[in-house]
Amino acid sequence: MATKKKTDTKDLFAEYPNLYKTSSNDEIEACMSFAEDYKAFLDISKTEREFVKNAIDACESVGFVDIETKKTLKPGDKVYSSIRGKGIVMAVIGKKNEGFNILGAHIDSPRLDLKPNPIYEEDETTYFKTHYYGGIKKYQWTTIPLAIHGCVFTKDGKAHEIVVGEKDDDPIFYITDLLPHLANEQMKKTPSDFISGEDLNVVIGGIPLKDSKKEDKKPFKANILKLLNDSYGISEKDFVSGEIEIVPAVKARDVGFDRAYIAAYGHDDKVCAYPALMALLEQERPNKTCVTMLTDKEEIGSYSNSGAQSVLYENFLMEVFAKQTGKTFDLLAYRKFIANSKMLSTDVSNAFDPKYANVSERNNTAYLSHGIKIEKYVGARGKSGTNEANGDFVADIIRIFEENSVSWQTGELGKVDAGGGGTISAYMAKHGMEVLDCGVPVWSMHAPYELISKIDLYSTYLAYKSFIENI
Ligand code: MN
Ligand code: MN
Repeated sequence: MATKKKTDTKDLFAEYPNLYKTSSNDEIEACMSFAEDYKAFLDISKTEREFVKNAIDACESVGFVDIETKKTLKPGDKVYSSIRGKGIVMAVIGKKNEGFNILGAHIDSPRLDLKPNPIYEEDETTYFKTHYYGGIKKYQWTTIPLAIHGCVFTKDGKAHEIVVGEKDDDPIFYITDLLPHLANEQMKKTPSDFISGEDLNVVIGGIPLKDSKKEDKKPFKANILKLLNDSYGISEKDFVSGEIEIVPAVKARDVGFDRAYIAAYGHDDKVCAYPALMALLEQERPNKTCVTMLTDKEEIGSYSNSGAQSVLYENFLMEVFAKQTGKTFDLLAYRKFIANSKMLSTDVSNAFDPKYANVSERNNTAYLSHGIKIEKYVGARGKSGTNEANGDFVADIIRIFEENSVSWQTGELGKVDAGGGGTISAYMAKHGMEVLDCGVPVWSMHAPYELISKIDLYSTYLAYKSFIENI
């Protein structure tokens, strides 16, 4: 009879400690310094276009080139492709031709977009009409400083970049709310009706055009149109093609006397996109080809040719495959290669908030500062609409995290039937690859100013790096 090793029952329990308790001083220092770089990148990358531009600058500075410039690819080559300027996909070619190791995040965030005819004047004030983008609580967008970021395309083929509201001496923009003194009726409404989508109108001016003629019925609007024309050479019709986003005019800031957390606009999902980018930029000659894809339009279903459902991302993977193998393109061989790929769908999730404890189930939720959150499935109403990761793949990921001292935790988005959500994982899993959702837990997700823990950001970066290097 074999002798049985005595097990301490303590070792049988799953424990996911607070990493600020268990990390060494050196680890905390590395985490704090990573957070500084993240905040700086985030402040200049509030929109998907800005993120792509800055990602291209960052990757070109370490030797990446546009894949179009390469006829063949060999181990160590670094290539990227811009997806219509609103998404980007990058690869570092590996030594083995055995499928890709992919990190995939999205770089669009909830916001207010301008309508095609946005400018109007009412009672001596000029406004922008907006159409909100993504899932927001509309009342949160009133009485906060707003900035305008975007691009207007004129008939001469020129793109005019517009960013107003970020510099200290810039004006900002504003959506009003009702004073409490007169809000008796408003306060009886449900929060979704505090302000309607049609009332998310942004104040952009209040001085009439000088010397405007008596018959000019819209002197206030005329003044704004003139200012816009003087500054950017645009006229009212140019807003039809323009892509202008209204975002909070706030910088990423440390939260707490101990600076444990960061509040910022757009953590969802740039807090995963940034470490996914950084993990890739560090690769020199990986075993397998490593890919980071940063997609657009996730917040509205990953449609459009810049969203994760677009074939443009797959075209890049196809091109890498073809140029890496150097043989005549073989569709079945490509499909098998893709099916042999492994991916982390790197998106944020909810963190347990003691103030709103009733939406989470304590044993199956993620906690701030307890590390990257693994989610085997997301979805809603009985796991509907989710990509559920395969158990053996989840076990592989956990093994790699633990072999590389990456602290992780797990949990669901919230309680069963409390609500739900989705990520880009389902669109990638249909190619046959293994995909797992895995990212940073967030407080006040989708608010204009969201909160994350610095140590979760750092653990996520270590997790993504260990994944692409070892899976
Ligand atoms: Mn997201
Ligand atoms: Mn989201």
